[in-house]
Parts: sequence; structure tokens; C-alpha cells
Amino acid sequence: MEKAVRLCFLGPPGAGKGTQAEMVSAHFHIPHISTGDMLREAVREQTELGKRAQAIMERGELVPDDVVTGIVRERLERADCRPGFVLDGFPRTVVQANALQGILEDLHQPLERVLNLIVPDDIIVLRSTGRRVCRQCGANYHLVFNPPAVPDRCDLCGGELYQRDDDREATVRRRLAVYAEQTAPLVDYYRARGLLRDVDGNAAVDTVFTRVLAAI
Ligand SMILES: [Zn+2]
Repeated sequence: MEKAVRLCFLGPPGAGKGTQAEMVSAHFHIPHISTGDMLREAVREQTELGKRAQAIMERGELVPDDVVTGIVRERLERADCRPGFVLDGFPRTVVQANALQGILEDLHQPLERVLNLIVPDDIIVLRSTGRRVCRQCGANYHLVFNPPAVPDRCDLCGGELYQRDDDREATVRRRLAVYAEQTAPLVDYYRARGLLRDVDGNAAVDTVFTRVLAAI
């Protein structure tokens, strides 16, 4: 039997964690687990925790740590996680990291590697604020990396290109500040446990993936 691959990604929003986690998942045939996906799935399947989370979200409140970690526990207990898993977006706080450690100890499946994707804030801002989306067909462009042939017009349908609110500089900077405050302490947490590997994420997707594989 092959060795299990149990991984987690850290890195600021916009660093490309989701993309790299998806590639790692496909490469090792292990589930890609993101908290957002887990919450939606738990609600859809109406598990006990899913019902609780749904009620909280319908009141417009943030889902508390114990509910999120409960959903993570349910997910990690499933058989498809035995060959390994790649966590993306969890843990976000030291409280969640401690909860994760407890879950994995119960399952006798310790985390083996935490990959810290490093991309300078200004590069993340450039990547994010350059994104444009076609109003008509939803095609994606980037002013620097994938510009349309005619400015502000979709190559495919001629529709108008616009910038999503999520990609505006103020929004991107706010997300980066929240990350620095809440999640960056996890870098020290996992470094102290000898699990952390820094990965330079400031390169093309395939180049970064090669670095990710080398760090695993
Ligand atoms: Zn279009």
C-alpha cells in the first residue's frame, strides 16, 4: 500500500491555494477538502451539523469554530480520506489548528506536511485587480496575463468586461489584512512542529506545482 499523503495549504487569499490543492488532489488521487465545500455539502446532506450550520447562516451569522471543526471531523472520518487528503481553507485560526490536531490524533492520521504558499501582497493585488469577466458569457480575462484583443470587450462574444467587487483593490487588501491577523500565526504554529515547508508561489501555475511536489 502506498504511503498516505496528508497535507494542508496555508497562504494568503489569492496566492493560488485552491488551484494547487486541486492539482495535488488529482496527482495523488486524494480528496481536496475546502471548508466552504464541506459546509455546503453538510447542509445539502442535512447532517446534524449541517442543519446547525444552516440555521446559523440563515441568521446571517458566522459559523463558529466548533461547528466548522465538527464538519471537518465528519469529512475526515470517511473512507476516501484513508489514502490521504489535502485541506484548503482550514484551519484558519490557532483554535481550529488545535481542533484539527485532536481530530487527526483520534483517527491516528497525523498531518504530514503543511505547505505555505508565499506570494508578495503586491503581486496578489496585481493578479486580483487585473481580472475582468465578460458580462454576457462569463469568460475570464486579465489585463496583464490574458488581455482581450479589444480593450474592455470579450474576444468570444463581444460582451462588456467588468471587474467583480471581490477583485477591487480595497477588498483584496482587506482580505490580506484579515489573513495576516488571523491565519498568519499558523505559520509559526506549524513551523514549531516541524511540519511547515515554504513554497515560492510567485510563478506560473505549473512551476509552482513542481515546487509543491518537491516540498511534499
Ligand atoms: Zn463574452
